[in-house]
Amino acid sequence: AELPADPNETNEIRQVSNAVFSYVNPTKPSNPKLIHASKEVAELVGISPEEIQSESFLNAFSGKEILPETRPFAMCYAGHQFGNWAGQLGDGRAINLTEVENNNEFFTLQLKGAGKTPYSRTADGLAVLRSSVREYLCAEAMYHLGVPTTRSLSLMLSGDQVLRDILYNGNPAYEKGAIVCRVAPSFIRFGSFEMLTARNELKNLKQFVEYNIKHYFPEIKGEPKEQYLQFFQTVADKTREMILHWQRVGFVHGVMNTDNMSIHGITIDYGPYGWLENYDPDWTPNTTDSQNRRYRFGNQPQIAQWNLYQLANALYPLINEAEPLEKILESFINDYESDYKTMFLSKLGLFTSTESDSELITALETVLQLSETDMTIFFRNLSQILKSDSAENAIEKIKDSFYKPKEISGTILESWTKWFTVYIERLNAEALSDEVRSEKMNRINPKYVLRNYMSQLAIDAADKEDYSLIDELYTLLQKPYDEQPEYQKWFAKRPDWARSKVGCSM
Ligand code: AMP
Ligand code: MG
Ligand code: MG
Repeated sequence: AELPADPNETNEIRQVSNAVFSYVNPTKPSNPKLIHASKEVAELVGISPEEIQSESFLNAFSGKEILPETRPFAMCYAGHQFGNWAGQLGDGRAINLTEVENNNEFFTLQLKGAGKTPYSRTADGLAVLRSSVREYLCAEAMYHLGVPTTRSLSLMLSGDQVLRDILYNGNPAYEKGAIVCRVAPSFIRFGSFEMLTARNELKNLKQFVEYNIKHYFPEIKGEPKEQYLQFFQTVADKTREMILHWQRVGFVHGVMNTDNMSIHGITIDYGPYGWLENYDPDWTPNTTDSQNRRYRFGNQPQIAQWNLYQLANALYPLINEAEPLEKILESFINDYESDYKTMFLSKLGLFTSTESDSELITALETVLQLSETDMTIFFRNLSQILKSDSAENAIEKIKDSFYKPKEISGTILESWTKWFTVYIERLNAEALSDEVRSEKMNRINPKYVLRNYMSQLAIDAADKEDYSLIDELYTLLQKPYDEQPEYQKWFAKRPDWARSKVGCSM
């Protein structure tokens, strides 16, 4: 059936008040081409493997045709960027196609890079192949690592050229345009609530919060005020769990602005993200943040709390009481710290706790940095340590993870020896056998993550129309905890040429 025409249906760039979204039309791509699609995500949303190869799949998920009986929309939200109020932002290059229900679950299908919306501000609403490959692969990699995240359905070329950079000689550097279809329960962000409160649209705020509770958190019941608080508590809990997973696998988001924080506690908006290679809590992949390093690895829990503070402020007019909100914010960090300890111990294969646990963790965080140690390789190889090992043996087993110096001596060797002496004592105090512990550790410490240089290789090949590496990495990263000896070459430290490479956002 035809939907009735809406007089507000225009992609014209504007301030949109009294609305949480605007109906928009995706821009028709001139020559769409499917690069990759996830059978698993297709199945999740009710699309068969055969349908993936169809013309209608190509048209729907490139924005060429609108799915029958649907009306695409872009969401209006505001946000704090790098700690500063930024006003209206909104989906500048994301377009929600529709929501589907499959097996009693709801999924929103969203195109990224399908053209301008009212929220595009001065930008073009498009995405380039490079950033699209990065988002497409990383979301799926994160999912299979067990990290809450948006999913990726498809990656397409638009057939259009996109301008992102002017070269030093003044020539435009065109890049291939691409469109990713991503999937999530919803793409509602902290900034969606901030916008309504900033505009003093309190009736809309109430309606929107109630919609969120009813639709996404139906388990929340009780008096209205109690429900709003429970909603905030739920978002805080989910956010905490997400950050804990980020720290476990060494993921750095890079742009934790409040408009990039999902109310579902899922990782959203993969821009200049990165993976820790040498363990460094101060590292950020975001070059625009290299001065303040606000979004550095070690600061992610504090930033999550800061962002939740902004959400609390946005919800405040419905609650009119600061104390219960403050209590939730305070316990966020306390609970995080205790969860972090348990999580870190589990990475070490320690499943009981003792008084000296914090000391053991802090000492390791220090010594990892002394020898520039690859986080992923270190923790993976740590599962090979035996209760009967000497500190010297143990160092032999993990030293492949050192970037610099490759051979340790002097005080660095002393520090490692000291740490392993305590660690092996600790292993001997645990009931688990070496074998069982090792198996458990290998389910917590991934063997394969999406290192920046891996994406870069896949992007370079894709630019030359070779998509085999995208498929290889996609397949590899579906089982990041499995040994997969056929892919052993990806269990390697970052090569020297990739050392100063950082993520890219646009
Ligand atoms: P981000 O930091 O990538 O989450 O983006 C911040 C804001 O900029 C969001 O409102 C985006 O929708 C918008 N934005 C980013 N890139 C583009 C683009 N190429 N065209 C239009 N809007 C964009
Ligand atoms: Mg964003
Ligand atoms: Mg972005």
